[in-house]
Amino acid sequence: MNYRTWPDGKTKTSLLGFGCMRLPQNKENKIDEKEAFRLLDYAYKNGVNYFDTAYMYHDGESELVLGKFLDTKPRDSYILTSKLPVMMCNSLEDAKNKFEEQMKKLNKDYLDCYLIHGLNKDTFKNSVDWGIIDYCEDLLKQGRIKRLGFSFHDDYETFEKIITYRKWDLCQIQYNYIDQNEQAGNKGYELATKLNIPLIIMEPVKGGNLQRLPDDVTKPFKAISQDSNASFALRWVAMHEGVKVVLSGMTTYEQVVENVKTFEDYKPLTEDEIKAIDEVSENIKKHVFNGCTGCRYCMPCPRGVDIPGTFKVWNNYAMFGDERHAKWQWDDIPDEAKPKNCVKCGKCEKMCPQHLSIREDLVKAQNLLNSL
Ligand code: SF4
Ligand code: SF4
Repeated sequence: MNYRTWPDGKTKTSLLGFGCMRLPQNKENKIDEKEAFRLLDYAYKNGVNYFDTAYMYHDGESELVLGKFLDTKPRDSYILTSKLPVMMCNSLEDAKNKFEEQMKKLNKDYLDCYLIHGLNKDTFKNSVDWGIIDYCEDLLKQGRIKRLGFSFHDDYETFEKIITYRKWDLCQIQYNYIDQNEQAGNKGYELATKLNIPLIIMEPVKGGNLQRLPDDVTKPFKAISQDSNASFALRWVAMHEGVKVVLSGMTTYEQVVENVKTFEDYKPLTEDEIKAIDEVSENIKKHVFNGCTGCRYCMPCPRGVDIPGTFKVWNNYAMFGDERHAKWQWDDIPDEAKPKNCVKCGKCEKMCPQHLSIREDLVKAQNLLNSL
């Protein structure tokens, strides 16, 4: 297993981290504990020492199962990370209760890393206003958590504000070769690295989307290697030295074996492989419905329609066909910002540098996304 040392000079983590949000389940949609232990044990025995969970994963079951599994291992042989669900809190009291509940479920005296979960503009403001960050700093002083960080889902500007708010011990972002300009993205990676804050990466394979690519898209990979699409995606993330852990939410034994293999014998990408990834990215982008770049020149729409937001969901669906994700993103656009509010005034089309038929495309997007 390949390991990376953190800027503190002491912490050493396996480059592959086990994300416990997609553990194997039985017919009742409960974690199949026996199978989950088999996966976790294979990873542990093959050198994985970073285990990531959260209050919300598997409706609260993930912490229980992971805690139980880790009880069979020496406490100093692994790094255990969990996350405070600030989106489920309405006060400091709620946050305190959640933390105590988590410690009981995990059955541990301390957590190696504690992340404030999924920070965005709103949850960050609440975390500051309600004293949740101060409370987490007290937990650090008491030794109940050893490192404090945050995981993140919002735009780069918000990321910059949060990461410079205090000296965080780590931070977790979404990063992969197709999302280099999404969320924190490349700029976020560079800033965190400059600030010497270790990065933990989630969604390196974009929820499996970068594995499930059509053959015509992945021709450049197949022309130079037998490695899986996922392996290319994981190694792209790992080639960034500021990245200390690449998380994979593993569900099957085969996935664990394959991911362990990728990082056991980790080889940085060659120039040819980087070129192939660029070509595959271009191929993926060719599948879009329209060429919206998200520049926002068309905004604001006088009727409040979220034009770039709608096209982003529509085009993502075209690229990956991920219905569940598209539905989730579509639900995220408020009803009053959906294309059905467009009165076809045409103002947006005059501003669009890509000369898109925005009015026509909005109707198509609304119809398709509503039908999912
Ligand atoms: S055409 Fe529709 S989307 Fe474009 S500015 Fe007018 S109301 Fe908004
Ligand atoms: S101006 Fe055109 S390209 Fe830019 S966000 Fe609006 S629709 Fe997309």
